[in-house]
Amino acid sequence: MSKTAWLDGQAFEIREGETILNFVERQRETGAIPTLCYDSRMEPFGSCRVCMVDVAMKKNGPCRTVASCHTPVGEDMHIFPDSDRVERLRRNIIELVLTDYPKDMINGSPNGDRELYDVVQRVGLKQVRYAEGENHKQREPDTSHPYMQANLAACINCYRCVRACDEIQGEFVLNMKGRGFDNRIIMGAEKSFQDSPCVSCGACAQTCPTGAITDINHSMSVAADREVRTVCSYCGVGCNLNVKVKDEKIIAITAPPEADVNQGHTCLKGRYAFRFQSHPDRLTSPMIKRNGQLEKVGWDEAYDYMAGKFHSIRDEHGPDAIAGISSARCTNEENYLMQKFIRAVIGTNNIDCCARVCHSPTALGMQWSFGTGAATNSVHDLAKATLFLIIGANPTSAHPVTGAKIKQQVMKGVPLIVVDPIRTEMAKLAKYHLALRPGTNVALLNMFAHFIIEAGLVDEEFVNSRCEAYPEFAESIRQLDIDKMERACGVDRNLVKDAAIAYATAERAMEFHGLGVTEHTQGTKTVTLIADIAMMTGNLGREGVGVNPLRGQNNVQGAADMGAQPHQGAGYLDVTKQGSADHYRENYGVSVPTHIGYKIPQMFNAALEDKLKALWIMGEDVVQTDPNTQHVMDALNKLDMLVVQEIFMTETAKLADVILPGTTFLEKDGTFTNAERRIQRVVEVVPPLEGTKTDGQIVVDMMNRMGYEQKGYDADITLQEISKVVPFFAGVKWDELGIDGKQWPVKEDGNDTKILHQGEFKRGKGKFHYFDWQETRELVNHGDEYPFILTTGRELEHYNCGTMTRRTSNVDLLTEDILLINPRDAHKKKIQTGDRVTLTSARGRVELNARVTDKVKTRVLYTTFHFPEMMINFLTSNETCSDSLCPEYKVVAVNVEKAPVQKPTNGRQVNGKAVKVQATVQSSNTTSS
Ligand code: SF4
Repeated sequence: MSKTAWLDGQAFEIREGETILNFVERQRETGAIPTLCYDSRMEPFGSCRVCMVDVAMKKNGPCRTVASCHTPVGEDMHIFPDSDRVERLRRNIIELVLTDYPKDMINGSPNGDRELYDVVQRVGLKQVRYAEGENHKQREPDTSHPYMQANLAACINCYRCVRACDEIQGEFVLNMKGRGFDNRIIMGAEKSFQDSPCVSCGACAQTCPTGAITDINHSMSVAADREVRTVCSYCGVGCNLNVKVKDEKIIAITAPPEADVNQGHTCLKGRYAFRFQSHPDRLTSPMIKRNGQLEKVGWDEAYDYMAGKFHSIRDEHGPDAIAGISSARCTNEENYLMQKFIRAVIGTNNIDCCARVCHSPTALGMQWSFGTGAATNSVHDLAKATLFLIIGANPTSAHPVTGAKIKQQVMKGVPLIVVDPIRTEMAKLAKYHLALRPGTNVALLNMFAHFIIEAGLVDEEFVNSRCEAYPEFAESIRQLDIDKMERACGVDRNLVKDAAIAYATAERAMEFHGLGVTEHTQGTKTVTLIADIAMMTGNLGREGVGVNPLRGQNNVQGAADMGAQPHQGAGYLDVTKQGSADHYRENYGVSVPTHIGYKIPQMFNAALEDKLKALWIMGEDVVQTDPNTQHVMDALNKLDMLVVQEIFMTETAKLADVILPGTTFLEKDGTFTNAERRIQRVVEVVPPLEGTKTDGQIVVDMMNRMGYEQKGYDADITLQEISKVVPFFAGVKWDELGIDGKQWPVKEDGNDTKILHQGEFKRGKGKFHYFDWQETRELVNHGDEYPFILTTGRELEHYNCGTMTRRTSNVDLLTEDILLINPRDAHKKKIQTGDRVTLTSARGRVELNARVTDKVKTRVLYTTFHFPEMMINFLTSNETCSDSLCPEYKVVAVNVEKAPVQKPTNGRQVNGKAVKVQATVQSSNTTSS
């Protein structure tokens, strides 16, 4: 029997666990009861009492007044939200609140459209009878931060900002200090915003109902003409954004509270780092290099030049002398078209994308184990997990909104295991931090599996009914030399054992991994081991479990799904199979090649060997982001034609023969697929800058110029074509994606899939794989001469090589790449924080500033590669994952010394020769990868 309560005399069903406020809003609408301290994303607080309602426990019984936001609705309760008494009380409360609020800010700008103003209107308050208080006037505005400002004179002590900082982001930066009239918000230890440990997520500014903390972009005096909902183009979380536009200029971004992915939250990149879109550095004209100089030309001239070159190179050297690199920053539709151009128009499978240098081992390893290489579960499942395992990922920096969600769960008591050589923010919260030596993931995970078997914690039923090759795997694992593995990875076996038992005994263990797993010579093998431990403990095919790669770029999942890889076409069909070729021929109207094309590292080698003559790169700065920079530059310089389609003059673009000015995600329609396989609509916010074209239109223009008929770029029409070619997009339709998108596979009837491999794996049985751990050749060959291991990662403030974020005020928050060094190593090398140091590897030498910290182990060094002034990839090697050819960024044998000259330089040396690089951030561009 359902239970009911009464609202203004009418009975309605009540739901388990709902408050009176939820109950009333379900019958009426959001905002039915005025609130001030309430935010649906946070725990009820009940401090302002504006949401009071009258309640009687029986019909015609006496009423009492309660705060509806935190009072559970009870059976047979009689609720009167708008009684005369309640309305009078609300007016009185608001009147008192306003005595502590600057009068000039109530009705007019700059904060006139804030929630407080709405509530004043709602309760019908016409005038304040009491004198304005004095205490709030003493508070000086804080304008120290590039994106947020605090005018605490307007604070009403509702605690929403404090709670948002705690409960949404989990930073605990804001706090309340003082008593009585002296009660006030402080940032950290009474620092300014800029000096506090604030991570600039903007959650406080978004929730503040009074304008006491504001987003400086969201100037209340400038009402936006319109607001467009789209999807962030930084990381693979895929946060939804509301972009506000005034006079065709983007003025601010907020996050829609109802968005399924991010529930009103973003990181500072999604919310604030958008001004690159209109930056004066944007490329706005095609260019062709003549006599060593790039000259502006018209689109037709650029297209004709390219078509002529493509034709002549194909006639003389065959189609395999041409290649393309597609972009994880572009839409699914654009990636689909790019791979189609290379396959159907040029006639080669030489197409790849930046998945090669990040998660290609994930795709391959998970395909070997499960039959498909995508995250098995959804972000929603985080709330269901009873244990988290994070391997080689730093989500609070690289995937901040997912990171914040995991952090919230961990702070509520869900145990966390972190496998990472660096003491990341998550590692500090972890119950088990397995700080292994870089390059030993396989050794550690083999130990992990060994202890699960030894403790008798294998889920026999799952393994026997759903998997294959377990006996061989288990036999090899039992034979492991644990002493050797322990020595190799440098983690106490008892810690590994405790963590393994915790994982295996958790009811629902959810795994996440990042590039610390994949960017190794044994990257693919590590991924299969992660799949092994999930299968042996039955942590697949249900809520709150799974193997979940944290995809780095916003649409790297989509780029691979669309076929931007040389061995599988759109929809992951094997290009060597006749059935695939027939399928593509039917859809493309032309035959496609059936031999595997070049992967990105092979493209560079082929160029150096004169086999590859032309390369079209769409939205990727391989010079800055790919390993062994000199090798990459030599390869690009060897080509007959390098075409670079970009938004800025990147390091790669500087080497181009043809430049094509593309557009940002804010200037186009299409879809992105996030890390949980969610296909979401990207919607044009402003038209493309004059002189630029959408990347999809550029590819379509070239298809037609080369004689292949393709309709103009239109997201809807292209998606219709994709849904015929890509089996798991069968039911994807532009108009039916809705505001929250759909997770593939999407069946023809439009139903999507939250959790993969329920009941059966994509490949039928899940397959176990065993691999011995092997020391990387980089350390075997160079470890004696270069005894430190350099490993790299990302900082929150910048995105990869920083092309976009360095053209925003994020540079005021983080200005350079820093080398982290352990205090013992620093002591031996006489290095102190702030010292300039020289890093050398077998490939080259760079200089940067050092920070001494125990976040890194001895003999391990850590840095980022956001700034071209450092160009860390001059140090990295040509070693790659032996299965997927993903470069080994995470293990570089280096030496470190205090630099002889203690001042910053912009020079570096490669193989003893000086290399000239750009000197300033404004003119030294890097891209999008
Ligand atoms: Fe964008 Fe990722 Fe930040 Fe979300 S978490 S706002 S998707 S960068």
